[in-house]
Amino acid sequence: MNDEQLLRYSRHILLPEIGVEGQERLLAASALVIGAGGLGSPAAMYLAAAGVGTIVLADGDAVDLTNLQRQILHTTQSIGKPKAESGREALGKINPEVRVAPVQSRLEGEELDRLVAQASVVLDCSDNFATRHAVNRACVRHRRPLVSGAAVRFDGQVSVFDLRDDLSPCYHCLFPENAELEETRCAVMGVFAPLTGIIGTVQAAEALKLLAGAGETLNGRLLILDALAMQWRTVRLARDPACAVCARVTA
Ligand SMILES: [Zn+2]
Repeated sequence: MNDEQLLRYSRHILLPEIGVEGQERLLAASALVIGAGGLGSPAAMYLAAAGVGTIVLADGDAVDLTNLQRQILHTTQSIGKPKAESGREALGKINPEVRVAPVQSRLEGEELDRLVAQASVVLDCSDNFATRHAVNRACVRHRRPLVSGAAVRFDGQVSVFDLRDDLSPCYHCLFPENAELEETRCAVMGVFAPLTGIIGTVQAAEALKLLAGAGETLNGRLLILDALAMQWRTVRLARDPACAVCARVTA
């Protein structure tokens, strides 16, 4: 690290759990952030501010006036611009040292697979089950740690699926694809603005801990927030040995 980096990251370096070594791990790491909306905005901002070396920011949408109530990566001036590009500009202002690679598409298929394989950590900040399951499958395939968040109305949840660990559950263990889960979209149901900030920020915290090797992550736990009562609950998650996505042959 040069003198400017030592200053920029000094408050992290002061933390014994991170230190110079942990900060160097962050600088060498690559994070894939899927979705540059309510969750992806604060998540990507903290990753950039904290000096994660490469941030791949994927979103196929353009900034809309209805986004600005919570998607703090974007401004009134960026209405109409692709969110990935608007996000790249905003992150560059926070920390010009970080390499931000905007991907202007809804990730799927080979592109998703390739980007997951290249990432040190994957943050699912998307808003639909199809993407969540596709991201989970790619993370299981390439054994990448997945930090998953969701926020709608006043309800939020966040978890880590550390798929480098054979004993870790995957997203599908928790929410099987064939389950009749109702898709609750912000566009229909509404969402409390700072809820997306709280959940997206927890995602950033978990991703930074995974990258720096600090503390204990939410792996195997689902953290649930009722923002109306401001009450958190933790649910223990177990791997489904019959899971169609992650069940591996164990001796
Ligand atoms: Zn599974």
